[in-house]
Amino acid sequence: MKPLQQLLRPNILALKPYSSARDEYTGEEGVFLDANENPYNAPYNRYPDPHQRRLKRRIAAFKGCESDQLFLGNGSDEPIDLLFRAFCRPGTDNVVAIDPTYGMYQVAAATNDIKVQQVLLTKDFQLDVEAVLAAVDKQTKIIWLCSPNNPTGNCLRNEDIERVITGFEGLVVVDEAYIDFAPGRSLLPRLQEFPNLVILQTFSKAWGMAGLRLGMAFAQPAIIEVLSRIKYPYNLNVLTQQKAMDLLEQNQQEVAQWIELLLAERSALAQELQKLPFVSLIHPSDANFLLIRTPNAKAVYQHLINQKIIIRDRSSVSLCAGCLRITVGSPEENKQLIQALQAYK
Ligand SMILES: *Cc1c(COP(=O)(O)O)cnc(C)c1O
Repeated sequence: MKPLQQLLRPNILALKPYSSARDEYTGEEGVFLDANENPYNAPYNRYPDPHQRRLKRRIAAFKGCESDQLFLGNGSDEPIDLLFRAFCRPGTDNVVAIDPTYGMYQVAAATNDIKVQQVLLTKDFQLDVEAVLAAVDKQTKIIWLCSPNNPTGNCLRNEDIERVITGFEGLVVVDEAYIDFAPGRSLLPRLQEFPNLVILQTFSKAWGMAGLRLGMAFAQPAIIEVLSRIKYPYNLNVLTQQKAMDLLEQNQQEVAQWIELLLAERSALAQELQKLPFVSLIHPSDANFLLIRTPNAKAVYQHLINQKIIIRDRSSVSLCAGCLRITVGSPEENKQLIQALQAYK
C-alpha cells in the first residue's frame, strides 16, 4: 500500500476538524452550559456523542474488532461518500468498480466529480481479476467491490478479492451489506492482514434497521481516523444510537432466527419460481434476494405492480438483460408473490 499521505487529498491531510463542545469535556455527569442547548425537553435537548463511544464499544465487541477500527455512519451511504471525499481529488482522480453493482458508488463518484472505470464481471458474475487490475492507472485511488454483490446476489470468490487487495497500492473497499446471509465469507476476521482494505457493513438488511440509518466501515485506525475527522460531528442522532444499543442487546437471537427463516424462504421461493414457465433462470444467491431471468421482464414487472407487489426491474443493467430482482419477504408475502406470478399469462 502507498503511504496514506500519498493517497489522501492534500486538503484533507491538512484539515483540522471542527471541535464541538462535547469534544472538550467527555464526562457523563455535570451542569452542561457549554453547547447552548435548552435545559428542557430531556433527553432530546442534548447533542449526541459525536464519537459514539458506547455504541462503538458494543459493536466492536460484537464484531470482534477494536473500536478504533470502526467508523459508524448514517447508513453505509455515508462512508461511501466520505471515502470519495477523503481520497479522490475532484476532476483528477478516479476509481475502479465492478459492473454490475450497487448504484451508490456511481452516484457518490458523480457528486464528487470522480470518474468510475467500470470492469464487467464474468458471465457467472465473478471478478475478472486481471481486468480489474488492468483498469488501474496512476490516478486510481479506490477499487470498489461488493460481496455478496447487488444486484447479482452472489459472493465474489475470496481468493479473487485477495488478489485485488494485494495487487493494488490504493484502497480496496469490499461492501459486505449482505454478509449476514453468507456466514463464514466475511473478510473482517482478516482485516489486520490488509492495510488497504476497507469493509462496509450495515444494520439495514439482516438486522432489520434500515429506517434507523446505521452503517459501519472497518479499516486500519489511520483510515478510520480520517473518516471521523471529516464527518458531520453529530452524524448519528440520539435515537439511532440509543435504539441500536437496545436492539444489539435484545435482538441478537431474533436476528439469527430471521436469517435462518429468510434463507429457508429463499430456497422455497426459488423452488416455486423454478416451476413458472416464463422463468428461464434463477441465479444462485448468497443474499436475501433472488435475481431471476425471464424473456418478458418488463411485462412481468408491470403485472406485479398492477397487484401492488413491487419488485426491482434490473433488465437494463449490464449482464442482466431480462433480470428481475426479488427480495425474500415473509412467508405470507412470498405466497402472495407466487400466486400473483402464477396468474401471469
Ligand atoms: C442495501 C445496501 C447497502 C445499505 O446501505 P445503507 O445506507 O446502510 O442502508 C449498502 N450496500 C449495498 C450493496 C446494498 O445493497
